[in-house]
Amino acid sequence: MSAALMMPMAVSSAYAADPVVQGTVVSSTPAPAKTTAAAAATTPVTAALPNVKILATGGTIAGSSASNTDVTGYKAGALTIDTLINAVPEMKQLANVSGEQIANVGSPDIDNAVLLKLAKRINELLASDDVDGIVITHGTDTLEETAYFLNLVVKSDKPVVVVGAMRPATAISADGSFNLYNAVKIAGSPKARGKGVMIELNDRIGSARYITKTNTTGTDTFKSVEQGYLGVVSGGNVFFYNESTRKHTTESVFDVTNLTSLPQVDILYEYQNNGSYFYNAAVAAGAKGIVVAGSGNGSMSSASSKGAAEAAGKGVVVVRSTRTGSGVVTHSSSDDKAGMVSSDSLNPQKARILLMLALTKTSSPSEIQTYFDQY
Ligand code: ASP
Repeated sequence: MSAALMMPMAVSSAYAADPVVQGTVVSSTPAPAKTTAAAAATTPVTAALPNVKILATGGTIAGSSASNTDVTGYKAGALTIDTLINAVPEMKQLANVSGEQIANVGSPDIDNAVLLKLAKRINELLASDDVDGIVITHGTDTLEETAYFLNLVVKSDKPVVVVGAMRPATAISADGSFNLYNAVKIAGSPKARGKGVMIELNDRIGSARYITKTNTTGTDTFKSVEQGYLGVVSGGNVFFYNESTRKHTTESVFDVTNLTSLPQVDILYEYQNNGSYFYNAAVAAGAKGIVVAGSGNGSMSSASSKGAAEAAGKGVVVVRSTRTGSGVVTHSSSDDKAGMVSSDSLNPQKARILLMLALTKTSSPSEIQTYFDQY
């Protein structure tokens, strides 16, 4: 049993109305938040404000801990979207906000089915004149994968912002409330149109293509070291300075409309003294693509190269990425000879996302290379 279930105690009052919290963690907490909840539920729609929809998937931003100083031993995805919205009533001054629960899990459990469900729902919502922008609440561990997937399949230039938190909602100095507030501000801003899918944490606005999680627990974990941030939220205003030069959203050829599943793509990590057997195992398990988290500039051992060549011989597309955390994996003539693809500056987890979508179009390595060159 988690600590959260064993040790009832006070948490931030705004979250006390949540049924999950009431039922498990803080059953004895008085209910000041009910007033907030009732007020929030009856907030009228204001025609002058943008309409922002929040789609919730779980994560630490919806996390609940038994102790307000415990920021690691908590349950992710414990609170519902209504609780998150009611905890930040200030958002109602920025936008007409409404929410939907798509999933409520820690982000390591976000799978291809959730990605497809989320993307289809976003496209449905953004096709309506009644929705001006979307915010997705998400665990930070795999947040960049979902954001990059959406960056490739959302068919609208309206703002889409993925947001998370590093401290559970019940912590003192929880970062989720302000991140969510800022995300709604961005999603309702006309300045944020056409920027591709964005990630907002710690006041920074990052492109889904460029930004990555760099730290296990720090609130400034999302960094865009090589390409920089798109902008910031500062002093209550949204500022943009950069744009992604890679194709996204309305320019993207990838389309989820008729997809009910995605091809299996696995990631294999390069290290000293490795063997070929993981390649064989991935192929035997049904992989249609393999991303190699190569050492340095996408280097692979002789054993890996053998495994990759055998996989390629069976029609599996192999992409070389890097475990270094930054930099471009440069394409070489030996890639072409071996029928392999290089990932440009996509890290392995994002290369997997692009390879899954690329495989819905073609299994030709040279054509897939052109996607890696452009997206
Ligand atoms: N384990 C959590 C998750 O990714 C961490 C977080 O939300 O930040 O869902």
